[in-house]
Amino acid sequence: MKPAPFAYTKARSLEEAIGLLGEHRSEARLLAGGQSLLPTLNMRLSAPRMLIDLNGIPDLDQIDCRDGTIAIGAMLRHAQAEQAPAISQYAPLIARALPEIAHPAIRNRGTIGGSIALADPAAELPACLLALDGAVDVAGPKGKRIVAAEDFFKGLFETAIAPDEVLTAIRFPVATTKSRCGFAEFARRHGDYAMVGLAANARAENSALADLRLVYFGVGTKPLRARNAEAALMCGDLDGAVVALASDLDPPDDIQATGAFKKHLARVLLKRVAQQLSEEAP
Ligand code: FAD
Repeated sequence: MKPAPFAYTKARSLEEAIGLLGEHRSEARLLAGGQSLLPTLNMRLSAPRMLIDLNGIPDLDQIDCRDGTIAIGAMLRHAQAEQAPAISQYAPLIARALPEIAHPAIRNRGTIGGSIALADPAAELPACLLALDGAVDVAGPKGKRIVAAEDFFKGLFETAIAPDEVLTAIRFPVATTKSRCGFAEFARRHGDYAMVGLAANARAENSALADLRLVYFGVGTKPLRARNAEAALMCGDLDGAVVALASDLDPPDDIQATGAFKKHLARVLLKRVAQQLSEEAP
């Protein structure tokens, strides 16, 4: 199918993009990698009158490490992030998740910011950002603000970004020698969206895990922390953590699987990720 007619502007600065958003308001949509937006236009699930292209804005694809925090620019492509030494060194959880996102052709165009802004409940990066206790930089007519990942993902494809704001970067603490992470997902075919996935991050403290964050994706309308399982696993009780998932997760049936099967997969993934976390522990 072909999209409904629309106007197109390539913004040359962040200020210009924000100005255009303010001018066209609900009629406008930002274009990043286009890997999710263009299919929705072609299927006429969305028909904005104006596309504002972010690809002409300089410096939105930078990686900046300072003061124990890594900031990744919104327009960094998934494929660029896969190749970046700073990501493998300082963001190993993201590095593990990236190859699971779609296929190389899509990762060549898709952006970090696009994945976070889209907030697909089955996507890898929103769950990773939440597991890393990260945050999102947004810029709008009133200036810049930083929104904690905990507050950013509101619901199904719904975030805290206002209609006249642009997501400019994501940020989270850099991994240290004490950081431990784990990542696993189950998809019908490699590159498909996950039926269920799990991103985990923690700090090794003596022989135990501290500050553990277990974040599931594909189990609801947004990435979800399994807080009871976290508590059990931090006490070293894997069996208890697996049981506790019953009270943490209540995935609805969807086109991929029944909720009951997703619960089963969640338990399997927890065991795999717990193994990864323990293998890395000193
Ligand atoms: P776009 O498609 O350009 O934009 C997506 C949405 O975000 C639009 O509403 C746009 O306005 C908004 N947006 C984009 N950038 C910004 C910004 N900086 N500020 C504010 N709003 C912004 N993704 C996964 O996570 N896992 C998968 O397994 C996966 N599989 C896929 C399989 C297929 C076949 C396809 C086509 C896509 C798949 N994707 C998957 C989606 C892919 O990763 C997309 O690239 C990504 O979700 C969106 O990034 P994008 O840069 O292409 O954004």
